[in-house]
Amino acid sequence: MSDTFHHAANESAGSPRDRVVILAHCIMNQSTRARWEGGGATRTEGAVEEIITPLLEHGVGIIQMECPEQTLYGNPRPPRSRDDYDTPEFKEKCREIAVRAMQTIENSTPEVIAALGFEGSPSCGVERTTRTIKGSRAESPGEGHLIEALRQEMREKGLDTPIIGVGLREGEMSIALGKLETLLKG
Ligand code: SF4
Repeated sequence: MSDTFHHAANESAGSPRDRVVILAHCIMNQSTRARWEGGGATRTEGAVEEIITPLLEHGVGIIQMECPEQTLYGNPRPPRSRDDYDTPEFKEKCREIAVRAMQTIENSTPEVIAALGFEGSPSCGVERTTRTIKGSRAESPGEGHLIEALRQEMREKGLDTPIIGVGLREGEMSIALGKLETLLKG
């Protein structure tokens, strides 16, 4: 293992800490970000390294949720808003994914330090989503369907975990990293 990932837990003589994050699929796999003829959602290549690297360095496990849009509609897929996805089929898929994320932790009780969404998404946005406003897709404050379902499941399990919105925009990334670093040091 490289020095970069030789984190503190390995150096301690005691038991490793079982800390995890629950995250939106595309933070580890940007290929699920929507693309369509002539366009696509803002994305980078591979994983969002700025977020994944500190998690590895601090020895935090990663629970990657399924991408509901990719599962149901594949990629390429048309650009859609939160309102377009406001259907029983899509909301049920989001609920299933959120329930599965909770099932992953319920019999082992790791410390869930954060859930990470992806800003701008109709599904995974935390502070910023995409709505249909006057017939056109537009940025709007608010969360996406999957984050809403996850928040609900966490509430029902009594889990008071912060949900952080990762964004590729500079301001959003630095806010997300600042929040994450604080939690990682805890
Ligand atoms: S639905 Fe969520 S996980 Fe899938 S590409 Fe969009 S933001 Fe990423």
